[in-house]
Amino acid sequence: MDVQSEINIGLVGHVDHGKTTLTKALSGVWTDRHSEEIKRGISIRLGYADCEFYRCPNCGEPECYSTKPICPNCGEKTKFLRKISFVDSPGHETLMATMLSGAAIMDGAVLVIAANEDCPQPQTAEHLIALNILGISNVVVAQNKVDLVSKEKAMENYRQIRKFIQNSVVKDAPIIPIAAHYGANVDALIQAMEKAIPTPSRDMKKTPRMSVARSFDVNNPGTPIEKLRGGVLGGSLIQGKLKVGEEIEIRPGVKRKGTYEVIRTTIVSLVAGSVKLEEARPGGLIAVGTQLDPSLTKSDNLAGSVICLPEDKIPVWEELTLEIHLLKELIGTKEKGEVKPVVKSEPLMLSVGSAVTVGIVTNPKRGEMKLKRPVCAEIGSKVAISRMFGTRWHLVGYGTIK
Ligand code: GDP
Ligand code: MG
Ligand code: ZN
Repeated sequence: MDVQSEINIGLVGHVDHGKTTLTKALSGVWTDRHSEEIKRGISIRLGYADCEFYRCPNCGEPECYSTKPICPNCGEKTKFLRKISFVDSPGHETLMATMLSGAAIMDGAVLVIAANEDCPQPQTAEHLIALNILGISNVVVAQNKVDLVSKEKAMENYRQIRKFIQNSVVKDAPIIPIAAHYGANVDALIQAMEKAIPTPSRDMKKTPRMSVARSFDVNNPGTPIEKLRGGVLGGSLIQGKLKVGEEIEIRPGVKRKGTYEVIRTTIVSLVAGSVKLEEARPGGLIAVGTQLDPSLTKSDNLAGSVICLPEDKIPVWEELTLEIHLLKELIGTKEKGEVKPVVKSEPLMLSVGSAVTVGIVTNPKRGEMKLKRPVCAEIGSKVAISRMFGTRWHLVGYGTIK
């Protein structure tokens, strides 16, 4: 069996529709760990949970699919299919930036839609647009909470969902009725994921690119200097592989005296889950141990950066020129109507990979903006563009780096 997951699947959709409950039903892990999250009952940070899919040789479809090495249906030993990392995003409208940075590492997604509410709810629509923009087209719809509605209501809701996804890139996505809270029909959902969200083929000759989602100081306070462990970076490899002993660069790096300096260091360890690896490849979350001074990596200080090889020299941008594509209509906002063109001096929230920054528009015609915080990305990369409505950022389009 593989130590490392081979694919990241996102859980997206409107708040309270059951993403975290479904993540738990699949993985056994409750991802809303943060105390503030538990208090407010919403996911603030991205949640991550690993899980394995198995198939029973005895049982028919979909009962043969489970997350257990022993078939819950007949007791037979099951066959391992693959290891998956679930990325549980927050569905609250204030947390679009977090959803977008999570979407940067999703290879496919499960769009969770509650059967007991009209479809689409605002963030159901906004998350689907985000998937469209970022090119995540392998999607399964989980029609959740079917235990709360009559059969007729469920059918009506099903038709609403079909109509809603009709004009998107996921128009043919399977829609699977489930009740995540009771684990009902989760086998059929796994079957749908096996068919509609295959593991992408990865070109391992490509040079490595890792999106840093978190960074830590793993030392307990008061650890003597000679025993200090170097800074740790957590995230997902987008392409290529990383090896222990390899020299890497972290871009844009750290802020020193007002400017950002690229950091160079050597990988001293690679960990997936709790297993040490010599080499890591795309799929799942990995922790990269380095020789860096842990004060540089503490408190997510380097979140949003990119890890690459020193010779790759991926550009760091303090200003960006984007070919801007705005949505025709506002989505996910209380306000309705068309998306107005970008204007001079307006602030836009830009999501570039797992990084988030604010760009102040300097030339709207040419798509030029000055960034509050630099980002590292290749020419041609897609940037999700959000605009402030009231006190909240909402997705209004995307740009391509020129
Ligand atoms: P999230 O905001 O999308 O992550 O939603 P949660 O997973 O936190 O679920 C929101 C609420 O819906 C919780 O109270 C869950 O217990 C409840 N819930 C989730 N799935 C189901 C379901 O299948 N049936 C019923 N009746 N309630 C559910
Ligand atoms: Mg949640
Ligand atoms: Zn079986």
